[in-house]
Amino acid sequence: MSGRVSTPGSSTGHAPRIFVISGPGGVGKGTIVDVLMTRDPRLSLSRSWTTRTQRPGERDDAYVFTTRDSFESHRDAGGFLEWTEFLGNYYGTPVPDLSSGRDIVLEIEVDGAQQVKVRHPESVLIFILPPSRDEQRRRLVGRGDPDHKVQERLRKAEEEEPIGLALADATVVNDDLMRTVDELVAVIEHHRGR
Ligand code: ADP
Ligand code: 5GP
Repeated sequence: MSGRVSTPGSSTGHAPRIFVISGPGGVGKGTIVDVLMTRDPRLSLSRSWTTRTQRPGERDDAYVFTTRDSFESHRDAGGFLEWTEFLGNYYGTPVPDLSSGRDIVLEIEVDGAQQVKVRHPESVLIFILPPSRDEQRRRLVGRGDPDHKVQERLRKAEEEEPIGLALADATVVNDDLMRTVDELVAVIEHHRGR
């Protein structure tokens, strides 16, 4: 089966594909995706909703920051492709607009990735791993996460990794950032060619 979402045709001659980038907190997903989007204008990054508060220094458009009430109303109205509760906050991907013809990138945790795979089995899941747990810890600390969040995310990573590895179409270790992005570009091109 080709890696396509079943929608009417598009300006690029094929239906948009969904690429899901997942991996434990602090592995570098956000950083990787930022570079990836500058490398490929045929990709469109989905903006998630969350009930978590904005981090100091975090961009206003990193998420749609919202309340639990409005998240639940949107969810109950069928507004999310997938959603989950992660470490006490809701996160959700709005049902994507496939009309632009661009392929869609989701940067989400594994429970959501699993839901997308069920709804769109042809979607492509790229799971990112840290070079080591110690390096992941250094990245979380370096990003400014408070101690208890670092512990929480490292603990959560132990649960997430086996699930992500079992679901993944491709796995990439984020050691050198530019090499990682090159590997993602290669995986994306490979699946476009199928
Ligand atoms: P995630 O989105 O997976 O939670 P982030 O993108 O916020 O992770 O990255 C966590 C921290 O790790 C950031 O400070 C980022 O600059 C850093 N980082 C990301 N990729 C690399 C890399 N390949 N090498 C070193 N540091 C990295
Ligand atoms: P953070 O709070 O660090 O921004 O995100 C916490 C986790 O939620 C990360 O693993 C991130 O990839 C994930 N996430 C972000 N948006 C979504 C979403 O829309 N759905 C799901 N399931 N996870 C998301």
